[in-house]
Amino acid sequence: MAKYVFVTGGVVSSLGKGITAASLGVLLKKRGFRVSIIKLDPYLNVDAGTMNPFQHGEVFVTDDGAETDLDLGHYERFIDESLSADNNVTTGKIYSSVICKERRGDYLGGTVQVIPHITNEIQERILRAGENRDVVIAEIGGTVGDIEGQPFFEAIRQMATRVGRENVAYCHVTLVPWLEAARELKTKPTQHSVQELRRIGILPQILVCRSHYRIEDSMRDKMALFCNVSPDAVIEALDEPTIYKVPLSLFEQKFDTLVLKALSLVSPREPDLADWQRVVDRFCAPSGEVEIALVGKYTNHKDAYLSVTEALYHAGIFHDARVKIRSVESEDIEEKGAKAVLSGVQGILVPGGFGSRGIEGKIAAARYARENKIPYFGLCLGMQVAVVEFARHVCGLPGANSSEIDPGCTSPVIHLMEDQTHISDKGGTMRLGAYPCDLVPGTKAAAAYGEERICERHRHRYELNNDYLKRLEEKGMTIAGVYREKNLAEIVELPDHPWYMGVQFHPEFRSRPVKPHPLFCGFIGAAVKMSETNARRENG
Ligand code: GLN
Repeated sequence: MAKYVFVTGGVVSSLGKGITAASLGVLLKKRGFRVSIIKLDPYLNVDAGTMNPFQHGEVFVTDDGAETDLDLGHYERFIDESLSADNNVTTGKIYSSVICKERRGDYLGGTVQVIPHITNEIQERILRAGENRDVVIAEIGGTVGDIEGQPFFEAIRQMATRVGRENVAYCHVTLVPWLEAARELKTKPTQHSVQELRRIGILPQILVCRSHYRIEDSMRDKMALFCNVSPDAVIEALDEPTIYKVPLSLFEQKFDTLVLKALSLVSPREPDLADWQRVVDRFCAPSGEVEIALVGKYTNHKDAYLSVTEALYHAGIFHDARVKIRSVESEDIEEKGAKAVLSGVQGILVPGGFGSRGIEGKIAAARYARENKIPYFGLCLGMQVAVVEFARHVCGLPGANSSEIDPGCTSPVIHLMEDQTHISDKGGTMRLGAYPCDLVPGTKAAAAYGEERICERHRHRYELNNDYLKRLEEKGMTIAGVYREKNLAEIVELPDHPWYMGVQFHPEFRSRPVKPHPLFCGFIGAAVKMSETNARRENG
């Protein structure tokens, strides 16, 4: 039977509960346990697909086509496993399922209530995540005391009686703020948030305390005393130079050992963290540096392109180069021109996006990269704008002069197919989730992957119009990857360019720090080469 670790948060949001949960996942997996991680999100949306990146950051897409909370991205990157729709439970999902059951007559004669129906439904999902696993780590979104989180807290409280107290562990992530006026760290918010947990019957065994400064022993003892945990169960979580250092820091403080003790589990082995140490060492002291322009329209939100920026960092670590990201608003390019905004970078990346705002700026970025032989990587919308740009300026296709790729898609080169039967049973109107793609031998994509058939995740409505393929190819654009079943072009390249690629899918979702994505490695590799060539030119 699986054991369960619940990660809750107090005082403020954005404390890094997700990173804490994911780091614990790494440590337990490296010890030889079969681990699953789930996120319990108290919001009413059924999934994150309908949420604006401005508010909630990126939507992370899983292999099975679920549009999930970005924390699932952290989980996948850390524990190096593909997760599914079941790993993200939301209030919306829980209520729709309970209401469906009620309509079906499953509770006939009974009054359907938050306790036990909603709380049972939550527990069923947590238990399901434990099938064929040793440990389930469940992170509860929001902070303790939030009205919408209450059913989740009640459900995890009940889990202790349901599966046995020795099979559950509660870990609370809190903030220990620095008060400048008093010139000291303050433990009272932590005490209050633990009191709030205790009020609802949850006794946390481990405290993870986020703090800007070291927590002295006296502070630690005080929190231990008031929060009823042992002093060594007060873990200090300082700001780190990279999130990938968190598993190492938590391991140093024996976080995983504390969890195992709370769960009465014996570890099969000590974790070997050499690969993570290497990632951190390289990240902190790289030999080179490249600057990459990320041309988007949600650039003000630091998490809107989270998986993309992480994938760039992973590739930088692989090439031993710091990746400096220049966030560029595509509308800025429209206003000031591509050269003014983009000059000096060694790579241009246009990520996915929706809506027509900023499209012209992205097209201009693709053109600037093509004409100036700057490495270009277009992801989904970034591929579509690259194709429109090429059709417009190289092929002179009259139909390609519209910027309205989305919505309404009046550019016929990228179109909405009449019969989008490839948008299978996965629901909605988008092509979502993993689809196979056959690579064309001799292309840069085939060389980067070193494979003939790959599988990547999608999230889009529009496709490259096959009627225009011949014209594009005649003028020098290569189709490097195809979804055979529906004969859809998935990758475009320019062979006479150092590195120019657009992909209809989202490779960023599969990149991991210890397994960087081949295409991101190819892109950053080309950027490194460009910066070396430039440096040589300047030197002599
Ligand atoms: N809006 C475009 C489409 O629906 C691109 C989507 C994306 O970049 N994820 O096809």
